[in-house]
Amino acid sequence: MRLFWSTCPKCLKAFVVEWALRHAGRQLICPYCGNRYLPDESAAIDDRYAE
Ligand SMILES: [Zn+2]
Repeated sequence: MRLFWSTCPKCLKAFVVEWALRHAGRQLICPYCGNRYLPDESAAIDDRYAE
């Protein structure tokens, strides 16, 4: 399954998200602080292929 890393714009911690959500227009929920935001609002995105 393809994944990407999103960095939360609030707490600046990175976590893994399913690739299917990258362009789905749905909010991600940060597992560290509970912040909800769209993938495009990420402080950083690392979408290199990862197992
Ligand atoms: Zn966060």
